[in-house]
Amino acid sequence: MIVTIDGPAGSGKSTTARRAAFRLGYVYLDTGAMYRAVALAFLRAGAEATSEGATAVLPSTDIDVRYEADGMHVFLNGQDVTDDLRTAEVGGVVSQISTLAPVRTHMVDEQRRIGHEKAEAHGGVVLDGRDTGTVVFPDADVKIFMVADLDERARRRKQEYEEAGQQISLEEVRAEIEERDRRDRNRDIAPLRRAEDAILLDTTDRTIAEQVAFVVDHVKARFPQGT
Ligand code: C5P
Repeated sequence: MIVTIDGPAGSGKSTTARRAAFRLGYVYLDTGAMYRAVALAFLRAGAEATSEGATAVLPSTDIDVRYEADGMHVFLNGQDVTDDLRTAEVGGVVSQISTLAPVRTHMVDEQRRIGHEKAEAHGGVVLDGRDTGTVVFPDADVKIFMVADLDERARRRKQEYEEAGQQISLEEVRAEIEERDRRDRNRDIAPLRRAEDAILLDTTDRTIAEQVAFVVDHVKARFPQGT
């Protein structure tokens, strides 16, 4: 069972995908974290988000996903960088770096490999991102496209930053996600869009528990015997 959840920043994908995967006994794959790890590699190398930058950074960049008791961890060249990925600094550059063809080709290959492996071993995988239902797994069993009002998304993202100890104004967060969405929707390769067969879920007025139930119910309805 392959479940994809795509949508703009702050629409509630990660929390919902993680909890739905847990409820279903599946594995959660946060594809945004993988792009964020590549962005961190660019930042650390002081490289520009250009194809020259990619040529300089990618050969010495190894992104590895491992599962530990508390969930998915991302390793950059052997170092666990999970806690360094959801910062405003990384958020500010990741959507530029994720427009680069060599970055996307490598990430999509890895996501397919991990997705098939985990679905085989655990019965299912839930991926979240921007192109998981359109490009990574166009034949996914269940596809969800999550949306929410910009103000609500900015409020959620600000809260996430605060929980991670970062103070940033609502206006700044709002500008960051607006800019990121604009880039993600307008890029040439694998832009953010709803797959034709994706179910729309507007999370503006829904609680996390309701969002999780929505996903779990759709998965169970798809294969009533198997879940
Ligand atoms: O999901 P998250 O907000 O962590 O994603 C960070 C960025 O990574 C997105 O804004 C987008 O630029 C990129 N991304 C992508 N394709 C995906 C997942 C994330 O381009 N499947």
